[in-house]
Amino acid sequence: MTRVRDWQYYDVVVSICSTCLRKVEGKLVFQDGNVLLMKRCPRHGSETVLIADDVEYWRRARERFLKPAEMPQRFQTPVRFGCPYDCGLCADHEQHACLAVVELTDHCNLACPVCYASSGPHRQGFRSVETIERMLDAVVAAEGEPDVVQLSGGEPTLHPEFFRILDAAKERPIRHLMVNTNGLRIARDPDFAERLVPYAAGFELYLQFDSFEREALVELRGADLRDVRRRAVERLNELGLSTTLVVTVKRGANDHELGRIVDWALEQPCVRGVTFQPVQVAGRCDGFDPAKDRLTLTEVRRRLLEQTQVFQPADVLPVPCHPDCIAMAYALKTDEGALPLTGLVDPELLLQAGRNTIAYERDDELRKRLFQVLSLGNSADDTPARLRDLLCCLPQVELPNGIGYERLFRVVILQFLDAHSFDVRSVKKACVQVVHPADGRLIPMDTYNLFYRDELEQTVLSELRAELTEQDA
Ligand code: SF4
Ligand code: SF4
Ligand SMILES: [Zn+2]
Repeated sequence: MTRVRDWQYYDVVVSICSTCLRKVEGKLVFQDGNVLLMKRCPRHGSETVLIADDVEYWRRARERFLKPAEMPQRFQTPVRFGCPYDCGLCADHEQHACLAVVELTDHCNLACPVCYASSGPHRQGFRSVETIERMLDAVVAAEGEPDVVQLSGGEPTLHPEFFRILDAAKERPIRHLMVNTNGLRIARDPDFAERLVPYAAGFELYLQFDSFEREALVELRGADLRDVRRRAVERLNELGLSTTLVVTVKRGANDHELGRIVDWALEQPCVRGVTFQPVQVAGRCDGFDPAKDRLTLTEVRRRLLEQTQVFQPADVLPVPCHPDCIAMAYALKTDEGALPLTGLVDPELLLQAGRNTIAYERDDELRKRLFQVLSLGNSADDTPARLRDLLCCLPQVELPNGIGYERLFRVVILQFLDAHSFDVRSVKKACVQVVHPADGRLIPMDTYNLFYRDELEQTVLSELRAELTEQDA
């Protein structure tokens, strides 16, 4: 009798052991509609990790959404120990920083049970303005004109020199500036929020949101922040400050609310989009069981599609610069509701070389639909907008006269690799990169939180590197 595997073998993977972080070999297989990573560490045994629950979407992302990498102006480290021990960026990396993160502090007024930066009130101290200026200069040196720089932390709005830092960022050739905030200061300090208004052009709040429900907020943030969320968004609506709602998604906590959050966000004038981020297992992960609580990009996408009427599967597409880890959908806010745009665009357009542009003139169906929208008597009187928003790897959308940026709505699913899902092939394309405060290296968020944050490079990573040097000798 012929014996047949009950899975379909697909490929070999270089991963890491989730216990000791040593490099291990693994393989990818398809089983019951799922993509599984099977790997084995000689010291810590075998692991099987769910990579995606949608083989078809995952394969399409991996095989069809490929385009040559856009490179940084310069690399910062030599290739020596092999990926991921050489960040960064080393010359082996395959994508520039679509989004560069500059962390102003590790201090925070929350102590979320899950925080990859392990921030909290117990961590005192703020980076000096001089250090932060050096970090900004490092991004400019690497990127020329950085697409998006995100000031983050910790809680960046607590920095005593916060507005001096905003000025310093604005003085540099940065296309979009974002502030990643938990919103407490915006909700509670009316003067603070008001002082953001002069920065509004090319500026966006990346506002922690997560949930409408008390239980989920307590589970994710350690506090019932419903009132803070409501007041922060109210205030940003009043002030007309562009905002992206950021939802950290945890299985069983808030993954039933994704559609409701999108529907609500569409009604908020200040909100330009929602970003869903499944928890990355890194830093502080209290009460988080990786075996049960992890979520993958395709699971988040599936739930979103089940929970909202706005988007169909063809609307939520892989983003070519890092298709394994980023998916996106665009919609146009109209008086009659949201009109999804991504599904109208030929995916080949997304793959064209250079910075992606979707020009409505070049796409018949898109033009027809936009014409319909315009014919509905919308009275927007904005100038024509040419949009390169947040994450340069998302396509630019050129809009006809009469439709402005505030009409465009964007949903992003952004997943970071962790020690469970780690795949060297994929991490080389990581385009969300953190600036190292000591030396200005740009390091993928994925590897930064596993090997380079705080003392990790001097402890965990230096041991791994020492082992590799011994093996070589
Ligand atoms: S993740 Fe990129 S920068 Fe880091 S070691 Fe790998 S290739 Fe180099
Ligand atoms: S996740 Fe954000 S808000 Fe929560 S402790 Fe960390 S830095 Fe603060
Ligand atoms: Zn191990």
